Amino acid sequence: MNVTAEQVKESMTIKGIFSIDHHQCSLCSYKTRYVRSEGLIYFDAGCDCKWEGWRPTRYEDVADFINMQSAVMKSKLLESIGIKDEN
Ligand SMILES: [Zn+2]
Repeated sequence: MNVTAEQVKESMTIKGIFSIDHHQCSLCSYKTRYVRSEGLIYFDAGCDCKWEGWRPTRYEDVADFINMQSAVMKSKLLESIGIKDEN
């Protein structure tokens, strides 16, 4: 199943989930992630290799990121934000 930005936002808000893993930096293993703070969503690329800190992003980007994963990875990500993958 594909998720929408609204579903992502709603589930994270209701369940009080503050971050979603994105990927691991190939150089330092830092786990980049999406972070929810005060109703907004940010991308945390804050590893030492490429310091960018948090940058504002949109729930649409989070939904797109989740939707383009492999089925297994998608289920894991959905589960991590409290959405049961029906497939
Ligand atoms: Zn790094």
